[in-house]
Amino acid sequence: MGRIELKGVQKEFGSVHVIPPLDLGIENGEFVVFVGPSGCGKSTLLRLIAGLEDVTAGVIEIDGKDATDLSPGKRGLAMVFQSYALYPHLTVAQNIAFPMRMAGLSRDEQARRIDNAAEVLNLTDYLGRRPKELSGGQRQRVAIGRAIVREPAAFLFDEPLSNLDAALRVGMRQEITELHKRLETTMIYVTHDQVEAMTMADKIVVLNAGVIEQIGSPLELYDTPCNLFVASFIGSPKMNIISGIQADKYGAASIGIRPEHLTISTDSGEWKGTAGISEHLGSDTFVRVTVNGIEDTLTIRAPGKFRLAIGDTVYLSPELENLHKFDKSGERIT
Ligand code: ADP
Ligand code: MG
Repeated sequence: MGRIELKGVQKEFGSVHVIPPLDLGIENGEFVVFVGPSGCGKSTLLRLIAGLEDVTAGVIEIDGKDATDLSPGKRGLAMVFQSYALYPHLTVAQNIAFPMRMAGLSRDEQARRIDNAAEVLNLTDYLGRRPKELSGGQRQRVAIGRAIVREPAAFLFDEPLSNLDAALRVGMRQEITELHKRLETTMIYVTHDQVEAMTMADKIVVLNAGVIEQIGSPLELYDTPCNLFVASFIGSPKMNIISGIQADKYGAASIGIRPEHLTISTDSGEWKGTAGISEHLGSDTFVRVTVNGIEDTLTIRAPGKFRLAIGDTVYLSPELENLHKFDKSGERIT
């Protein structure tokens, strides 16, 4: 249960073509993240899968059956949104029970599923509280609880953590990952945040203007991005992209090198440059360096204790085995 297949799925809003024909297979039990910049069509794609939007063309299959024209309620999927819209006058237990009451489940079955969801989500002690007596993270867990009790074939999350502060986001990220390990249910998770994608996904789908740029595991995308878009989108700080004569030397229109794959020295190296601002994170120092003949400032990862003054002369050398080469159209040269 929980295999989803999109075949030639398209979506137009009036004359705006948001999703050109798109094919995608999601395996049972996979944690798939749709990631891409704001407006690239992530929510639209998720809403098409959920049945909240009609496809303009194409077929959506759930567990081998054509679900293209099924109403959302009949697809057996549960969606969790960014705004978790709990009923303020209902308790946690009543909020979680809500979809089961609508579906007419017996009181015993409702109680069993509420207890189960509360235990999985660490909400057992909060079942009698109302939403205003909960923290943001707890409210988000109640919203997830409401999805769990439906025992869906797949969970669909649309940027569920965007309303939470940074520390809470990290915690909830881990909770959702653990929840997936425990439930082993298919999860599709939409985010614009590549860190969430990297830390949570089995499989990342990188979207750009409705088009799938690349599908792969987090490390596949990090180590072998198939084009400049993916190379620049995945990783923080970003991969350094260099074009011009430095790229010519390597037989490429542009080359990419991640901050941790440039060595920095005050004595010698391939490219002579001038140190700019250093960002001291404690564990690492990110140094900005301008190199003669390279248009963009480069970012280099150095050890935490590394100290340079602005204006110091430095030398950079790229690790050749970690150099990415791209052609004129931005595609990876292998
Ligand atoms: P994302 O979730 O990646 O930020 P969306 O899927 O929300 O992107 O939107 C993709 C594109 O489709 C955007 O350009 C958006 O303006 C457009 N769009 C989304 N919903 C509608 C709608 N109901 N009517 C017209 N355009 C829409
Ligand atoms: Mg969205």
